[in-house]
Amino acid sequence: MRILVTGGAGFIGSHLIDRLMAEGHEVICIDNFYSGHKRNILKWVGHPYFELIRHDITDPIRLEIDQIYHLACPASPVHYQYNPVKTIKTNVLGTMHMLGLAKRVKARFLLASTSEVYGDPEIHPQPEEYWGNVNPIGIRSCYDEGKRVAETLAFDYHRQNDVDIRVARIFNTYGPRMLENDGRVISNFISQAIHGKPLTVYGNGSQTRSFCYVSDLVDGLIRLMTHAHIGPINLGNPDEYTILELAEIVQRLVNPEVEIQFKSLPQDDPRRRRPNITRAQRLLEWQPTISLLEGLQRSVEDFRGRLGGNAIAAHR
Ligand code: NAD
Ligand code: UDP
Repeated sequence: MRILVTGGAGFIGSHLIDRLMAEGHEVICIDNFYSGHKRNILKWVGHPYFELIRHDITDPIRLEIDQIYHLACPASPVHYQYNPVKTIKTNVLGTMHMLGLAKRVKARFLLASTSEVYGDPEIHPQPEEYWGNVNPIGIRSCYDEGKRVAETLAFDYHRQNDVDIRVARIFNTYGPRMLENDGRVISNFISQAIHGKPLTVYGNGSQTRSFCYVSDLVDGLIRLMTHAHIGPINLGNPDEYTILELAEIVQRLVNPEVEIQFKSLPQDDPRRRRPNITRAQRLLEWQPTISLLEGLQRSVEDFRGRLGGNAIAAHR
C-alpha cells in the first residue's frame, strides 16, 4: 500500500513509519519540521519506497495514496501554546485538507486525536462515550478544542461524503525520540535527572496521568487502521500514576541524589486521566504490553545517548 503519514518526522510518526516500512509499504512523510526532526527518519531517506515532503498541511496538497495517518500537530503544551492560532489552523485547516485528499482519492483516513478531548474529566476512567469537560477559551483550548473540531470534521466527512475514517484518542505516550526540551513531564524528568537538576513537579504532584510506551501505541494505531471499527477508540495504558510517584520512580531509576522541586500548577491542568480501554481490548484485541519501568529504562537509554557522555559519567 502507499501510505501517507502527516507529522511523520515527529516522535510518534517516526516510530509509525519504522513499522510501516518494515512491513514493506510505500511511505510518504509530510512534515513542516515545526516540532519534528529529519534525524528521526534519516535512516529511510534515499530508500526507494520512502518519500519525504517538506510541506505545511495548512496548505492543500495533491497526492495519490491508499491510507492517511494524520498525525501532524504539535503535541506538547509548550509547543502548541507557542503559536496557538497556528495550532488551530493545523487542526482545522490541516485536517480539512487531509480529509479532502482522502475524499478525492478514496483513501482510508486515521485521525490522531487525543485524551485532551475529555478536558478535565468528571468521569474516571474515561470511556469513549464521555463528552468531556473542556474550557473553550483557555490556554489549552487551541489544542483540545482544535482536536474536537478535527473529530467533528472526520465524522462529517464520513456521514456526508462517505470518507472511510478511523479516530484514535491517544493518551499520554512516551519513549525514545521525544524531544528533551518539549516540556512534557517524562522528557523533563529524565533530562533533569540526567543533568542532576531538581525534578520540577507542578502543583503538589497529586494530579494523575497514565503513560503508554510508543511501540504499544503504534501497534494500536495500525490495528485500528486495519480493523473495521471507525472509533473513536481510546489508545493508552490504563496504569495510572500521580506525577509525584512518577518523579520518585525517575529519581530512583536515574539519579537518587536529585531533589524534587514543587512549582506552580499550569492553568487548566487536568487533575486526572486514565483511559478505559475496554473497546480497544474487545474490538482490536489490543492492550499495552510494556510496563512503565521497562519503557522508562528504554527512554533513559535514548536520552543518555543524545544528551552526551559527560552528563552520564557524572551520574553513574
Ligand atoms: P510531535 O510534535 O513529535 O509530532 C508532530 C509532528 O507534526 C512534528 O513532526 C511536526 O513538525 C509536525 N507538524 C506540526 N504542524 C504541522 C503542519 N502544520 N504541517 C506539517 N507538519 C506539521 O508530536 P507527537 O507526540 O509525535 O504527536 C503526534 C500526534 O499524536 C499529534 O497529532 C498529537 O496531537 C497526537 N497525540 C500525541 C500524544 C502524546 O502523548 N505524544 C497524546 C495524544 C495525541
Ligand atoms: N508536569 C510536571 N512537571 C513538568 C512537566 C509537567 O509536574 O516538568 C505535569 C503537568 O502539570 C501535568 C503532567 O505533568 O499535570 C503531564 O504533563 P504533560 O505536559 O506531559 O502532558 P499533559 O498535561 O498534556 O497530559
